[in-house]
Amino acid sequence: MAAEHSDVPTKHKAAVFDVPGHISTKVLELKTPSPGSGDVLVKLTHSGVCHSDYGIMTNSPTYPFPCPKEQIGGHEGVGIVVQLGPDTGSSGVKVGDRVGIKWISYFCGVCQPCRDGAPTHCEKGKASGYYYPGTFQQYAITSARCLTQIPEGVDSADAAPMLCAGLTVYSALKKSRAGKGDWMVVMGAGGGLGHLACQIASNGMGMRVVGIDAVNKQDVVKKSGAEVFLSLKDDKTITEEVIKATGGGARGVLVCAAANQAYAQALGFLKHGGSLVAIGIPEVLEPIRESVPVHIIAKQLSIVGSSVGTQEEAIEVLDLVAKGIVKVHYRLELMENLTQVFEEMHSGRLAGRIVLDLQA
Ligand SMILES: [Zn+2]
Ligand SMILES: [Zn+2]
Repeated sequence: MAAEHSDVPTKHKAAVFDVPGHISTKVLELKTPSPGSGDVLVKLTHSGVCHSDYGIMTNSPTYPFPCPKEQIGGHEGVGIVVQLGPDTGSSGVKVGDRVGIKWISYFCGVCQPCRDGAPTHCEKGKASGYYYPGTFQQYAITSARCLTQIPEGVDSADAAPMLCAGLTVYSALKKSRAGKGDWMVVMGAGGGLGHLACQIASNGMGMRVVGIDAVNKQDVVKKSGAEVFLSLKDDKTITEEVIKATGGGARGVLVCAAANQAYAQALGFLKHGGSLVAIGIPEVLEPIRESVPVHIIAKQLSIVGSSVGTQEEAIEVLDLVAKGIVKVHYRLELMENLTQVFEEMHSGRLAGRIVLDLQA
């Protein structure tokens, strides 16, 4: 039986990519859908804006297919469940629950990545905001089993960026093999992902953090718990500075920056047994420079890729916000200003995250 909520409108506002390949968005009025089998309808109040949305909109070569015209972007949505489709009973989701919509809005549960416990990489997965309507809209459909419950006491605007940015860096930090007292270098430390990585690594996991970014992001990086801030420099100078600051090299480097130069520098920051965790996606596809086999072998280094995280990790990272360990640095914006937001993102000026207030 489908449960209904009386005040679901017939139409709602959505921001779409009206000229894929370019920085351009338009607000349209769309028909509000009804949830199908296994799905729920969520009345969204907030959505974070991710660099992946920018990549999808502009047809970055890092995505396999071009962006469809009038694609609704967004995969960091928070809102209230207002309607349950058929066959959602076993999910435990109820009308009135405050929930988060993440990157994956459907997974099959039977392919190899799903069997490995990584439904985020499902071979038949549907991604919010890429060939599936995303969260830059007032009402969105998602599979009930992909939702994450938002803990009481966590503000919806604070929760939104945790659903991709926070989850991504938390999962990546866990994959780094670094622990309490170890040095972690965060590259792109003042951005949407980086400032959360600094907080989670330092306040949440007890690591010592070196944050690297443009000099105008120093304040955000320091406030996010980095013990040392280093501004961007040439390869030789920055390597010397990191080695000095960490007393011989770091246990881990998290590359949040979408820049090939950051990857080329990162391996040189590591001490014996260190790990480079790749999460930032440069638009120019090239191998990691300086990844010379003999150096990797001699220092027993690891290069690990990570994207988003598990459902369990989403719960854990929201708990860090509930406990006050992580505080998202964000600016609220209206859907109508999304084009300008992407222009700022493209220029590299954005510190922290942008969160859209969808009901304004
Ligand atoms: Zn994202
Ligand atoms: Zn699957």
